[in-house]
Amino acid sequence: MPRFPDYEWPAGKQSAFCFTVDVDAEMPWMWAHRDKPMSGLGALELRRFGQRVGIHRIVDLLKKFNIHGTFFVPGGIAELYPDLLPMLVENKHEIALHGYFHENAKDISDAEFTRALEQSIERFEQQTGITPKGFRSPAWEMTPYMLDEIKRLDLYDSSLMGFDHPYTVRDVTEIPVQWTTDDAVYFRYTGGGVDLWPPSPPGPILDGWLDEWSMLHRNRGMFMLTVHDWISGRAQKILMLEKLLQKVTAESTAWISKLSELADHHRAINNDIYVVDGNLSADFSNHPARKVS
Ligand SMILES: [Zn+2]
Repeated sequence: MPRFPDYEWPAGKQSAFCFTVDVDAEMPWMWAHRDKPMSGLGALELRRFGQRVGIHRIVDLLKKFNIHGTFFVPGGIAELYPDLLPMLVENKHEIALHGYFHENAKDISDAEFTRALEQSIERFEQQTGITPKGFRSPAWEMTPYMLDEIKRLDLYDSSLMGFDHPYTVRDVTEIPVQWTTDDAVYFRYTGGGVDLWPPSPPGPILDGWLDEWSMLHRNRGMFMLTVHDWISGRAQKILMLEKLLQKVTAESTAWISKLSELADHHRAINNDIYVVDGNLSADFSNHPARKVS
């Protein structure tokens, strides 16, 4: 495969930095328990912290640095907390789609995916008058059908990891995510003996994120930070994010942008360059290496 050229950013910019929040709160827990009774309050209260406290701390932090982020909100969370979307819009953040009940792609049919997407758009429009421009899959998993629906509704997607700058997959603008810069990987800890390891201390993770950012900046890439209201709204994590933003905002050639701005830029400048087909293929049945005599 020929090497792709360096990504082209707006004049005067060398890289992009995106602050995104997956506002899951208690919805993934509720979805996981949709067919069975919930026995205790522990996990629910842990996650409800996200809407009571965490989201406000994150919004305050962004205000301090005059940064506008992109908030992916399940329709069901907007329904439970009707002040949330208007509050984010009031603070000039982008609001985008994240399933209705934070459904995992593997748990639902194609028709259910479409229904959840359309219901979410309806709720966003009803509560804010704004039609969202982007979607992020709850489990960071996509299928060709899902991408085709995203295309039909003229949305961008932010769920895949095929580059570390925007690209085009099945004719959809993809603003990629990355596990390395997702807070849940390091800090998600729910107790009850189910976690495989204790939460990381923030210091080494901040060091790793700063290295990631400086190298991506050098390589004309994009740093996609993903945090969750119920995880990064906690004290230590807010301080850690503050230190990260102090560093990034001091670099004037880093483009700190909302994902819809990145999607518009990509469509205008780079739409024909970073294109992949996004087909699923793993059929080796007729390959000579599979033949046994
Ligand atoms: Zn989520």
